[in-house]
Amino acid sequence: MKDIGKFITGFERFQAKYFGEEQGLFSQLRQNQKPRTLVIACCDSRVDPAMMTGADPGELFVIRNVANLVPPYRHEAQAPGIRAAIEFATKSLEVEHIIVLGHSSCGGIHALMDCEGSTHTHYEFVGSWVSIAQRAREQVLRELPHKSPAVQARACEQAAILVSLDNLLSFPWIQERVNQGSLFLHGWYFDIDAGELLAYNAQTSMFSALNSDGLVE
Ligand SMILES: [Zn+2]
Repeated sequence: MKDIGKFITGFERFQAKYFGEEQGLFSQLRQNQKPRTLVIACCDSRVDPAMMTGADPGELFVIRNVANLVPPYRHEAQAPGIRAAIEFATKSLEVEHIIVLGHSSCGGIHALMDCEGSTHTHYEFVGSWVSIAQRAREQVLRELPHKSPAVQARACEQAAILVSLDNLLSFPWIQERVNQGSLFLHGWYFDIDAGELLAYNAQTSMFSALNSDGLVE
């Protein structure tokens, strides 16, 4: 019970903060939520979007899944729940930003890179889920065939973010709002080793460090 006790104490701190001193925030949030940003992040315990960004309750609508993947719009077999959450965030909440947040040392991407090895024999569901980013794996094996598994994994973690951004654009109303300039897509990468947050820069086709204006340095 030690671990659970820590979480209960944590909730008591949250309760004291938001239902004690900062009543104002929840007096509005009790009525509805109006987050302006959807984050699609990995389930990984080290990559908590709200904790990492200092977001308050009500600021981020968060979808988490293994390897922070977005299935394409037309993909009947996989994850209607994920697509329903994307649909709700974009059609009902009308978020203005979607951040696909990947990270280094991602177990899901490791499983994707190893899909002809232990992933196939060890898991029932992980292999078919991460195959959403199969295109990223193939690209890495084609472009970096002689690099170490660690270098290939990092490249695949970043390439998979781009696959998910691409898949977001396969949702017709998302493509429309991006074209109108009322919705912005972002690819972010949390480098756990360096403790840095990188963002995809379409001009350079690279992930680079972010500054506080949201611009790539
Ligand atoms: Zn991960």
